[in-house]
Amino acid sequence: APHRVHNFSAGPASLPLEVLQQAQAEFLDWHGTGMSVMEMSHRSKAYESIIAKTQQDLRALLNLPANYKVLFLQGGAYGAFASIPMNLLKGSSGKADYIVTGTWSQTAVKEAKKYCQVNVAATAEATKFTTIPERSTWNLTPGAAYVHFTSNETIHGVEFPMEAPEVPEGTVLVCDMSSDFLSRPIPDINKYGVIYAGAQKNAGPAGLAIVIVREDLLGRTIDTCPQIWNWADQAKNDSMLNTPPTYTIYMCGLYFAWMLRQGGLAAMQANARARATLLYDCIAQSNGYYTVPVAPACRSLMNIPYRILGTCAELEDKFVKEAEKAGLTTLKGHRSVGGLRASFYNACTMESVQALVAFMRDFQAKNP
Ligand code: PMP
Repeated sequence: APHRVHNFSAGPASLPLEVLQQAQAEFLDWHGTGMSVMEMSHRSKAYESIIAKTQQDLRALLNLPANYKVLFLQGGAYGAFASIPMNLLKGSSGKADYIVTGTWSQTAVKEAKKYCQVNVAATAEATKFTTIPERSTWNLTPGAAYVHFTSNETIHGVEFPMEAPEVPEGTVLVCDMSSDFLSRPIPDINKYGVIYAGAQKNAGPAGLAIVIVREDLLGRTIDTCPQIWNWADQAKNDSMLNTPPTYTIYMCGLYFAWMLRQGGLAAMQANARARATLLYDCIAQSNGYYTVPVAPACRSLMNIPYRILGTCAELEDKFVKEAEKAGLTTLKGHRSVGGLRASFYNACTMESVQALVAFMRDFQAKNP
């Protein structure tokens, strides 16, 4: 068996072994074409079939209604931070509401301010992003072009419930789902105007932003929007206005097919709950040795930030180093918040989480 570590990276992150092995088996000769997917023209019949199947499987996973377009774009979620205002502002009030629950929503705000008048309708900054502001406290702007929120804050480990937040009829709800996309079903998907996510966490390798947009919203693009960010243009061209990230899309396709074989998003959610419960329980049973700063009601199933003995940087450094030696990698918290962080995306196995929990108990016993 190949040497594989337990990888808890926040993204790019581990991929299912089965998916990697399939890619490896098909690498030199995809389905008798005599070439790698990497070498194919994006206009070839073979590649057209790959991208079509990828979209079809994604739509099946999400149970996506026919009036939504799926766009495969470059530029990651950062690209979307700018392309959202550029594609939703024309003919609007020029105002947009943002719910700020951590670094990523702050980053989205910063970019949007270049294009529109941003109103921070709610922020959890006062709690250092360890809570989600109650819906009743949101100060939404009447007539705003859209409301933007981040369903899972990757750095702070704060996640919204699965149900979309209630917004007034006609309000365009926009969600950055980068770090919990495809980790759970979206039961009320028709409440969203736009959903977007970078692929490199739960859905594939880096290099692809998936943008899902309700059809009737196409046509609100400002005139100065660069062509590659113009969603209507991209939709018209099936995401092939220019050369798309062909290999990344193919890898996502293998991953989507894997998810369907596992039982779809209900199965991904059950796995996510089982993994996170194991770690949160281990932390709860540590008598305060390990602590999670986030309020229990909004703890993420994807990214779990935690500390040792309050904020003991010395022990945390030691923990990261020893974990690395034991084959448990990428457990350091984001540089902006410190501490530790374990990220458990779709490809993360229970075996990896069990290894982490065993290591944590052992570390606590040896470093009281
Ligand atoms: N939003 C969220 C929630 C993220 O986790 C990230 C990346 N960690 C981003 C946006 C930025 O994504 P990208 O690097 O794909 O631009």
